[in-house]
Amino acid sequence: MQTYAYGFPRLGENREFKKVTESYWKKAISESELKSGLKAIEENTLSTYENYVDKFPIGEMTMYDNMLDTAIMLGLKSYNTPDEYYELCRGKDALEMTKWFNTNYHYLVSEIEGVGFKAASNKPKCKLAEFNKGIPYFIGPFTFLKLSKGVDKEKFKEMLLSLTNTYVELIHEFEEVQFDEPAFVLELEADEIAAIKEAYKKFEGLNVKINLFTYYEAVDFLKDLYELPVAAIGLDFVNGKANLDNIKKVGFPEDKTLIAGLVDGRNIWRTDITSAAATLKELSSIAKNVIVSNAAPLYHLPVTIEGEDLDERLLSKISFAKERLNELKLIKDVFEGNSEAAAGWNKDAGDYGLNQQIKDKISNLKDGDFIKNTPYAQRNKMQREILKLPLFPTTTIGSYPQDKELRAKRAAFRKGSLSEADYKEFIKGKIDNLIKFQEDMGLDVFVHGEFERTDMVEFFAQKLDGIATTKKAFIISYGTRGYRPPIIYGEVSRPEPMTIEEVKYAQSLTEKTVKGMLTGPVTIIAWSFNRIDIPVEEVAYQIGLCLQDEVKDYEAAGIKIIQIDEAAYREKAPIKKKDWPKYFDWAAKCFNLSSISKPQTQIHTHMCYSEFGEIIDYICRMDFDCITIEATRSKGDIIKDFKKVNFERQIGLGVWDIHSPAIPSIEDMEEVVRCSLEALSKENFWINPDCGLKTRDWPETEASLKNLVTLAKKLREELK
Ligand code: GLN
Ligand code: ZN
Repeated sequence: MQTYAYGFPRLGENREFKKVTESYWKKAISESELKSGLKAIEENTLSTYENYVDKFPIGEMTMYDNMLDTAIMLGLKSYNTPDEYYELCRGKDALEMTKWFNTNYHYLVSEIEGVGFKAASNKPKCKLAEFNKGIPYFIGPFTFLKLSKGVDKEKFKEMLLSLTNTYVELIHEFEEVQFDEPAFVLELEADEIAAIKEAYKKFEGLNVKINLFTYYEAVDFLKDLYELPVAAIGLDFVNGKANLDNIKKVGFPEDKTLIAGLVDGRNIWRTDITSAAATLKELSSIAKNVIVSNAAPLYHLPVTIEGEDLDERLLSKISFAKERLNELKLIKDVFEGNSEAAAGWNKDAGDYGLNQQIKDKISNLKDGDFIKNTPYAQRNKMQREILKLPLFPTTTIGSYPQDKELRAKRAAFRKGSLSEADYKEFIKGKIDNLIKFQEDMGLDVFVHGEFERTDMVEFFAQKLDGIATTKKAFIISYGTRGYRPPIIYGEVSRPEPMTIEEVKYAQSLTEKTVKGMLTGPVTIIAWSFNRIDIPVEEVAYQIGLCLQDEVKDYEAAGIKIIQIDEAAYREKAPIKKKDWPKYFDWAAKCFNLSSISKPQTQIHTHMCYSEFGEIIDYICRMDFDCITIEATRSKGDIIKDFKKVNFERQIGLGVWDIHSPAIPSIEDMEEVVRCSLEALSKENFWINPDCGLKTRDWPETEASLKNLVTLAKKLREELK
């Protein structure tokens, strides 16, 4: 039995990738130091692979993103110097960035309209020459094309065929290559599958063994997949549970190798080695040649549990990337008859983190517990009486610029050189200033600014029981950017109020209404590693109940508007649409559970996502009073979506794209509002930026908000 691993995190155990790259960006190191720094990381990854597994790819290393590198190899983009390369990633005309499947990684999207392909360069070939080991790694042609922009539906096949010709040129000299084709797990149409078959035929005559990897879900067209002229097929048996049933039904071709993804690249719980070895046995009775591998690339995991000071009982249940490599070895050993090999790996952590009382509370929830007694129309009347807001009320989404000073204070507090009392005093000072700032700007509904939060999920994870946070377990989000997903390991409960103090303080400073600010259950789960011993909806309802208590505390403190952010509502949706009804059922329910409140309290939600059309009905199932969304980048479409469902609640269309440093003019913003008013009534219309202002500077924030408020006043005058 051979082992095969791929996708090892390039970020590095101590985020060496980030340090080297960003030092170069800051001109603190030279180009040759950049190159040798990156080479050291790559060397380290390759030797880690070598220590643990038989087979692994070469060429996965990238200076920023592998989809961009693919575009470069195909001649769609080019560069000569690192600076030119980074221009493509983060310069003025950088490629657009978007989410990679249902993960939290973002890739750079190529625009393909009207371009031709050519084999302009060959990264794996250079890397192979340099390191002399590994199997040349490529993102497969179908996945690359499917995830690019500007590909006409009618022209898709034609383009795929021409693209595949270029791939032939890229791979024909190799003995063996790795193709990652995660897009094969999407719900593909018959003509797409036919196009794949026709395109892959081009590889037939070559003397190259292709190891084709699919992951993140099961493949719906196994039989067709078997017809492709590839040597090995990788299937994900962890995130694509259906793969096992399907393969039992249709078997596996004798002339191919099955690469069985059995250790999870997406979540951190240790693989049950005995049961994985048993699955491997079962698979070996179906497929003649089997290799054991990870399921999904390992870069969705931190590098290693070494040096992490989590509770021993929790730590002993966890595997990060390096530990996953070890698990591959263990599975192989047990499979080959050494039943003792894995002794001690799967420890029983007892009832650590478990709480029967909370479990009972969840199982006793009744349908009625998820529903507000007063319908929106009535709530709306009551709330308008209380809030007395003008037409086109203005507000912001929550966070305000987190500047150098704030980051320095926070770091000092963490290190212990600033006392908690002094840190809190500092945050209070920031709130004082922000209230004054919002008054000067003339905004209508205020926020406290979220200065005490680095991350909208980690902040709550630190306050809730049953969720652990780590010291250095970063995973990559995009480019050099990493974040530390919290670990939901037990029943989630709220030992004490989490956010009331700051918001209450902010409210005490002003006559204007200050919004309370919470992160919703779906988003907390989506950006954490979640436990798998109970259904995800139970975790969601546990968090929902914690937030409901927080909402009650806000009400007791006199807070009249509460925003519950569900930034990940769309992103957390399963890859296959057939699984959507089940997902959105609990996703909407846990939001509603969180937001159970007095009818007088106005509940807002916020989502930063632009294509709402396909989920608009599911958004409507969330019983909020007002939703603020991103609209600047996709104006018209969103309005159509909301018109379609006859949306009668309030909506805050983001008129300022906060992802760009540009200051929006009054005219730009007015255009967004004007075309929206064709579909939405002016009484229901809020004016706000499209997301939090955490990453912006104060000067641009001030200038933009001035324009925003001026616009609101102007419209009020004209349309009253
Ligand atoms: N309230 C959060 C903020 O303003 C929302 C962030 C988000 O949607 N990503 O930062
Ligand atoms: Zn947002």
